[in-house]
Amino acid sequence: MKLNEKCEHMKCPCCGKAMTSGVVQSSRNIIFTTEPSCGAFNIKSKDDVMLSSNNFTGPTCLAYICKECEKVVIDYSVGVDIERSW
Ligand SMILES: [Zn+2]
Repeated sequence: MKLNEKCEHMKCPCCGKAMTSGVVQSSRNIIFTTEPSCGAFNIKSKDDVMLSSNNFTGPTCLAYICKECEKVVIDYSVGVDIERSW
């Protein structure tokens, strides 16, 4: 898995072209929730999903982008170690 690479296995859900690999990063945990709130970004219900790994040093998600459609797909099945060289 390399970053900044066209990925034939990850097609854009809108246009169907290969998406480009990368990461989404934040200074705080990145979660998916159906109940947005201000303040603490933690898992609050059973439907919430922690998307980021490496949460103590630099919350990071493996992701794919299609800049034409302005879509990002996050793959949270894979933990990301930002110390590793890509
Ligand atoms: Zn697209």
